[in-house]
Amino acid sequence: MTTRDTRTAEQAYMENHTAALALVERIRDALANHDDAPADGLDWGHVGDIAHTRSELQEISDRLFNKGEYECEGFVGARASGPCADCGRRLEDHTA
Ligand SMILES: [Zn+2]
Repeated sequence: MTTRDTRTAEQAYMENHTAALALVERIRDALANHDDAPADGLDWGHVGDIAHTRSELQEISDRLFNKGEYECEGFVGARASGPCADCGRRLEDHTA
């Protein structure tokens, strides 16, 4: 038996939005405090861990900012300006 979601899209969005902001703060604090590695005795395992963290954060950043694999296909050239026909963002904000 499945339970029907009775929330509105706005309620569901805001619940996820609030939780996402809390995660960002928690992750920011953990990174700032170097909670992922000892103060002494860094080894290549810690390098792998932070590289993995960076990679996952880069994926989120790319998606939010339409970069990397999420880059819009509407880019037409470095001198283009105005709204993109594909995504509506400014063409100046697109990269190649
Ligand atoms: Zn676009």
